[in-house]
Amino acid sequence: MTKEQQKEQESLNLFYSTQTVIQKALAKLGYQNEMFDLLKEPLRLLTVRIPVRMDDGSVKVFTGYRSQHNDAVGPTKGGVRFHPEVNEEEVKALSIWMSLKCGITNLPYGGGKGGIICDPRKMSFRELERLSRGYVRAISQIVGPTKDIPAPDVYTNSQIMAWMMDEYSRLREFDSPGFITGKPIVLGGSQGRETATARGVTICIEEAVKKKGIELQGARVVIQGFGNAGSYLAKFMHDAGAKVIAVSDVYGGVHDPNGLDIDYLLDRRDSFGTFSQLFKETITNKELLELECDILVPAAISNQITAENAANIKAAIVVEAANGPTTLEATNILTERGVLLVPDILASAGGVTVSYFEWVQNNQGYYWTEEEVAEKLKKVMVDSFEKIYRTAQEYQVDMRLAAYMTGIRKMAEAAQFRGWV
Ligand code: GLU
Repeated sequence: MTKEQQKEQESLNLFYSTQTVIQKALAKLGYQNEMFDLLKEPLRLLTVRIPVRMDDGSVKVFTGYRSQHNDAVGPTKGGVRFHPEVNEEEVKALSIWMSLKCGITNLPYGGGKGGIICDPRKMSFRELERLSRGYVRAISQIVGPTKDIPAPDVYTNSQIMAWMMDEYSRLREFDSPGFITGKPIVLGGSQGRETATARGVTICIEEAVKKKGIELQGARVVIQGFGNAGSYLAKFMHDAGAKVIAVSDVYGGVHDPNGLDIDYLLDRRDSFGTFSQLFKETITNKELLELECDILVPAAISNQITAENAANIKAAIVVEAANGPTTLEATNILTERGVLLVPDILASAGGVTVSYFEWVQNNQGYYWTEEEVAEKLKKVMVDSFEKIYRTAQEYQVDMRLAAYMTGIRKMAEAAQFRGWV
């Protein structure tokens, strides 16, 4: 099996496991099978081919996607990822997760997601600009501030959002900041958007330690991944007095039981979050997960905690900052062992929440301070955590199923009121 085929198989599994949990969640909430039939697949999936003039004069044609899960609640919303392993199944599954995230945080959106098969690490600035603009031209019919609102995701950033917003505004012939979120502040971006995902994870950790009776001050934290979520989280944990004892990038990690110098790592990493090659003594990503610690945060890629290693996880709390880092079998093993698992669709919902704030500010043309954003985010995250924790207790289900139940409920109700089911 080639690497691409293996990735496609994994994405397919991810998609099926999402469907399995949605089916269970809807059944627990008392919905008939027709509702599952509506919500198990995205309503719309657009595949586009984007020709890009490369710097050497040749033309390369890229494949991109935009998936819109369901718009019963409102316009769809979600990021666009640039990655060599993007595929249809993954984009579809991720768009469903966006619906769940928006449901949990009670945002007036359904879920969407986009992706382009490309390797931005091997492309120049200008090539990336042409690709970003080409993507917007290709999907422009199905997106817009009241239809579907893109945002950053893996390997996309505020510069890419700026190019996309500019292209969309040119096509429509009026300035449309509300078309996309995660923009630079000067183009209508929100204060606090850049750090929002990590802030959301931090708030979940603060709530989880209370439930577990653990003191955050001095707690040992292990973080897998040093991208947007992982790196800011390491900083916030360090600032909160926790001891970040291990972090990693795609190649491996560094471990110091006395706590790492996070500022040094932040200083030395490159723009893709890599730093481990600077170190002689490293540990593997697999070893990192099994370290003795209080809080483990997988903040990198999917399928990291599986039936094979779940029994070896020593953390009392696992907070999923990445999408899908724990398989369903591993979720059962961790839950049975009394580990408090904060599922991805809750833990990583801070990003889309502040994206919603950005969109609201764009629509009203009135901008909030960083403190206002932080305060509003805190309220949304704490309320969402509590809702899910209570649902888990009330229905005697694990936190993941409770999160799916909370996330899908509003969409099911909206679809019913619209007379779709
Ligand atoms: N890509 C982020 C996510 O997966 C943010 C989406 C958004 O801000 O709309 O949640």
